[in-house]
Amino acid sequence: MDRILSSGQEHSPKRAAVKSKDTTPELFVRRLVHSLGYRYRLHVRSLPGTPDLVFPRLRKVINVNGCFWHMHGCARCRVPSSRRDYWIGKMQRNAARDKRTQRQLRRDGWGVMVIWECQIGASREDQLRTRIAGFLGKSEQGTSSQEG
Ligand SMILES: [Zn+2]
Repeated sequence: MDRILSSGQEHSPKRAAVKSKDTTPELFVRRLVHSLGYRYRLHVRSLPGTPDLVFPRLRKVINVNGCFWHMHGCARCRVPSSRRDYWIGKMQRNAARDKRTQRQLRRDGWGVMVIWECQIGASREDQLRTRIAGFLGKSEQGTSSQEG
């Protein structure tokens, strides 16, 4: 867990797997969440879509989505000029699956947060931390001393 890939971050969408594990944006989010004091499980296969970060006690999940593969619609989503139909079809299927799994999760009572690749970066760290803390609510630790 201590080893973090420090170099070789790829911007080419062709190199990024559809649902690659341990991608750099996800590590960034994990580190943030960890620093906030939350505990999570990774890639829980028993849940729809295998969410990236799962908070069982809070019944919440966070997905870290690559902009290209999940059709965010931002500047990172430019479709390669060759084989456009292939890429667009692939992206649309991914986006449709995202919607479906989110609906399933919400129907089962899970809170779902999506963090996009383009929203991640050192300059946005504070903003993202605030968003995550707002989504997850009170930290699991540090608030229990007054209770019980
Ligand atoms: Zn984006």
